[in-house]
Amino acid sequence: MKTIHVIRSERVVTPEGVKAATVHIRNGTITAVRGYDDLPGGANVYDARKSVVMPGLVDTHVHINEPGRTDWEGFETATRAAAAGGVTTLIDMPLNSIPATTTAAALKIKRTAARRKCWVNVGFWGGVVPGNAGELRAMYSAGVFGFKCFLVPSGVAEFENVAESDLRAALPILADLDAPLLVHAELPRALEEAMKPLTNADPQSYAMWLRSRPAAAETQAIELMIALARQYRARVHIVHVSSELSVPLIHRARKEGLRVTAETCPHYLVFTARGIRRGATEYKCAPPIRDSRNQEGMWRALKAKTIDMVVSDHSPSPPAKKCRETGDFFRAWGGISSLQLGLPVMWTKMNGRNHSFSHLVRWMSSGPARLAGLESHKGAIAAGFDADIVIWNPERRFIVKPRMLQHRHKLTPYANRPLRGEVEATFLRGEMIYDRGRFLGAPRGALLRRGER
Ligand SMILES: [Zn+2]
Repeated sequence: MKTIHVIRSERVVTPEGVKAATVHIRNGTITAVRGYDDLPGGANVYDARKSVVMPGLVDTHVHINEPGRTDWEGFETATRAAAAGGVTTLIDMPLNSIPATTTAAALKIKRTAARRKCWVNVGFWGGVVPGNAGELRAMYSAGVFGFKCFLVPSGVAEFENVAESDLRAALPILADLDAPLLVHAELPRALEEAMKPLTNADPQSYAMWLRSRPAAAETQAIELMIALARQYRARVHIVHVSSELSVPLIHRARKEGLRVTAETCPHYLVFTARGIRRGATEYKCAPPIRDSRNQEGMWRALKAKTIDMVVSDHSPSPPAKKCRETGDFFRAWGGISSLQLGLPVMWTKMNGRNHSFSHLVRWMSSGPARLAGLESHKGAIAAGFDADIVIWNPERRFIVKPRMLQHRHKLTPYANRPLRGEVEATFLRGEMIYDRGRFLGAPRGALLRRGER
């Protein structure tokens, strides 16, 4: 671990734009962003030269799975991957660990399990499941950043999906707390209808999997959530939007003044259904990766700010659960492993599209920070913000080798892909925690609570 007082670069991404500057840090906080040659004598300087200095990424959609399914992914491995990928804050989803984070007692168990293992800052979402409306206030007081629910089966038995009646019990409470409800937006009936003609479908065919999760399931779910957001004046956030057909619905809701936000994930922005080989279940996620025309629409929605952010939905499992031997898309665990790779994956695809570093910050740092209510001190290189910083080389190319990955399991659809943009160093509160493949010191990420700095 190494304490740094000044970071200097020809390309510092600030809220006012990209400029040559020095970032001055004291006690973990950015005190000023000054001229390039403003180097106080005796200061410990990190000279990033031409590399880009940006606020560390904030990833509000990560499944860590510990305790209970630590063999899928755990705090130590997930947060090492985060540090290596320039992610300095992540918010853990309430499901796939056992217990699921659906009670205040379970939150305590999760926090205990995370203690002294986290290389980056970690916060927690709570869960809304049938029958736990009475727990929501206690969980919020105990520091969860908001709540997540599923409208379709989640894939694990201990985190049941909600029906409209459950939402009507929870939403008045969440509106009163002003807590966001994150929603996996697909409706069961549309999925059941889609499955009917597919009973004898070839399970190794990606086209069949895609057909089983039609865009209509997502648009219908979003329509329901918008109506509920209107009725209860609640904050609703649609996780992993996969279909461009959802975009106008979200746009209209926002124009109406409803508090509806949305995210998508790198895999929807870089992979297309046609490119997924037979039986390549490492690409399985729900909702599914769709066609290239749809993908263009997703990029337009990001640029137009209808989709607010890009987060990983890192949701790995042991390789056996991905059923690679049988290549069965219908039996394989749905979840893509990607936490460490979001920045270069996005940058590689953005190249040539006239996007800027400022877009990356908005989509992957300040945008998600706002969702979690962290925007006053995370997500910007500016005085008063936490010195959580990533330094990366946008010109550097590399090929994803499984051995580079810090995730517990190396299976990922990004394996062997050429990417552009290499993370060089990651700083947490002014301390260097990651330096070109090396981890420095001990895990010192904070366990975050809503409302605490
Ligand atoms: Zn997820």
